[in-house]
Amino acid sequence: METWFDVPGGVPAVGVDHVPREVVEVVLGVAVQRRIAEGRGACRSSWAGLGWAAWRGVGAPVATSVPTHRTVSPLADGRTLSARRLLVATGLRDVLPDVRGLAGHWGQGVVHCPYCHGWEVRDEPIGILAVGPASVHHALLFRQLTDDLVYFTRGTDLDEDTRARFAARGIRVVDTPVSEVVSAEGGGIGGVRLSGGDLVPRRVLAVATTMRARTEGLDELHLPMRDLPGGTGRHFATGAAGATDVPGVWVAGNAADLSAQVGASAAAGALAGARINADLAVADTDAALDAAERGVTRV
Ligand SMILES: Cc1cc2nc3c(=O)[nH]c(=O)nc-3n(C[C@H](O)[C@H](O)[C@H](O)COP(=O)(O)OP(=O)(O)OC[C@H]3O[C@@H](n4cnc5c(N)ncnc54)[C@H](O)[C@@H]3O)c2cc1C
Repeated sequence: METWFDVPGGVPAVGVDHVPREVVEVVLGVAVQRRIAEGRGACRSSWAGLGWAAWRGVGAPVATSVPTHRTVSPLADGRTLSARRLLVATGLRDVLPDVRGLAGHWGQGVVHCPYCHGWEVRDEPIGILAVGPASVHHALLFRQLTDDLVYFTRGTDLDEDTRARFAARGIRVVDTPVSEVVSAEGGGIGGVRLSGGDLVPRRVLAVATTMRARTEGLDELHLPMRDLPGGTGRHFATGAAGATDVPGVWVAGNAADLSAQVGASAAAGALAGARINADLAVADTDAALDAAERGVTRV
């Protein structure tokens, strides 16, 4: 039996794999893979398949125009493709503060999400590199994972009430400016160097990143965007099931919901896929009716 997993990267828009439609996935505007789903009621996918598909960024095209529900997508390799509907699933980009030595540890010693990395960093000496008010809550979350937590204010405000709350939880506060993140000799993070030269040993640093939906190649669609409070993020503005104000274009996953994890992203892709297919079913019927009526007229 054919399954999604037999077609690496060529997975149709999530949720429409039981429906015989041609779907194209574009990753970074280069790899174009096609599959014509021939579902006839057989079980062709699984929840894991849905999760995997959304995580891979199903249906993330580089598009420049949407003339009346038909999208033309010039790809980075020069090819073009057409689609009647578009699902944008370009994900997001995490923007780190500009601290020397920090970016090289991203995803390993430098983490942003206790729900993604909590188990791996439990009981480690963790530092919070503050970026603003969002870092206060971040600290409380990471305090659940370790007794050894240091909060580097980095020039951000920390009021007396919050300092008292941190003290009650045993969170140490360092107000001295941070000059760099120092790597350990054997790899990983060794500590945080302060402007005076002192080194605060840390193995893990948590940063509340600024999350920005990836928009490369999508500017000409003029999809509405929405900013999170305090400049903490920017994402595509969507309505029910990822619909946008631009006809024929849906957005799913982190590009629309910055806090969605794999499960929520996959679910959003499935929902959008179903809506797109429903939309096409109506369009096909409209076209059939139109053709039939023109046929009658000719007679
Ligand atoms: C370090 C780290 C660890 C994480 N750990 C977990 C975890 O343990 N559990 C969990 O549930 N979640 C985790 N997450 C979150 C999870 O990765 C996301 O929720 C999920 O990947 C979102 O899926 P998505 O399909 O919206 O976007 P993505 O998975 O980011 O996919 C977007 C795809 O679109 C492509 N793309 C971008 N722009 C274009 C373009 N212009 N043209 C074509 N293609 C483009 C990208 O290359 C990418 O392949 C983690 C995130 C990070 C950063």
